[in-house]
Amino acid sequence: MTVSVTGATGFIGTRLVQRLHADNHNVCVLTRSKSKAETIFPVKNFPGIVIAEEAGWKDCIEGSNAVVNLAGMPISTRWSPEIKKEIKESRIRVTSKVVDLINSSPQGVRPTVLVSATAVGYYGTSETQVFNENSPSGNDYLAEVCREWEGTALKVDKDVRLALIRIGVVLGKDGGALAKMIPLFMMFAGGPLGSGQQWFSWIHLDDIVNLIYEALSNPSYKGVINGTAPNPVRLSEMCNQLGNVLGRPSWLLVPDFALKAVLGEGASVVLEGQKVVPAKAKELGFPFKYPYVKDALKSILS
Ligand code: NDP
Repeated sequence: MTVSVTGATGFIGTRLVQRLHADNHNVCVLTRSKSKAETIFPVKNFPGIVIAEEAGWKDCIEGSNAVVNLAGMPISTRWSPEIKKEIKESRIRVTSKVVDLINSSPQGVRPTVLVSATAVGYYGTSETQVFNENSPSGNDYLAEVCREWEGTALKVDKDVRLALIRIGVVLGKDGGALAKMIPLFMMFAGGPLGSGQQWFSWIHLDDIVNLIYEALSNPSYKGVINGTAPNPVRLSEMCNQLGNVLGRPSWLLVPDFALKAVLGEGASVVLEGQKVVPAKAKELGFPFKYPYVKDALKSILS
């Protein structure tokens, strides 16, 4: 199979491309920066991988069986009005380009599958509700971003199988939320961020990569699929487990102000969570390697 991937140089994309390459699939890395992509996927380790900046995306997509769309400006930053605009527009811009290129590819050579990222932020935040794929969207800024992002992907032609993966907080080595949380946690001796009562819908990096990988070839994977582990936890529980694995006490609170100083308004992703369950993935029989946060953290940190 030949797969084109946007956001391939990111936290999830890098691992996905490594996996596809290891399994002898052809990969086109669709990037804004060829030089950056070449340092992540050096030709000696990744022979045969095609790296294309925007002018080359058309040829890549036309020759692919499937496209994975992961690109977007990181949200865990300080949110100025300009950054908020770019958080949304980067996702709409790339998704729109990918969809246009798929729709305009000649029949017979066009990709038949689009796996497109979105986020659990779609549901808004709540300390009491449980969200599955049929739950309505929330009414905050991130929910609006996700709705428009998904709405753009939904413009792909109906004969292309679309899987929209609403991704939770991805836990993995050397990146994502955990890389930002650990130094804070160590600095403040550990403990729940904010009140600790907020829900934390997480997923291990291996599981999100496996879910995307499965969605590429399994025709049952279509429509919205929550990319979260089956056992979301309250943030206090997450921090207790993190403290145990790191061998640090976990009785002090990391104050909101400290988290906001590091993440800016992007801190809302962990300060105001949502309990999201992967109803569709369970119905599909997706085998989660890490259903429990304790095992996920142990595998990542020890
Ligand atoms: P990363 O931030 O690690 O990587 C995203 C990629 O998007 C980058 O490598 C970059 O690729 C591209 N990109 C960055 N900024 C822009 C921009 N302004 N315009 C266009 N492209 C840009 O993301 P992750 O791998 O962590 O996540 C992948 C997707 O999944 C993202 O869209 C994210 O929102 C979503 N998601 C991730 C979660 C997580 O916990 N990691 C949780 C929920 C959703 P290049 O420079 O090669 O063009």
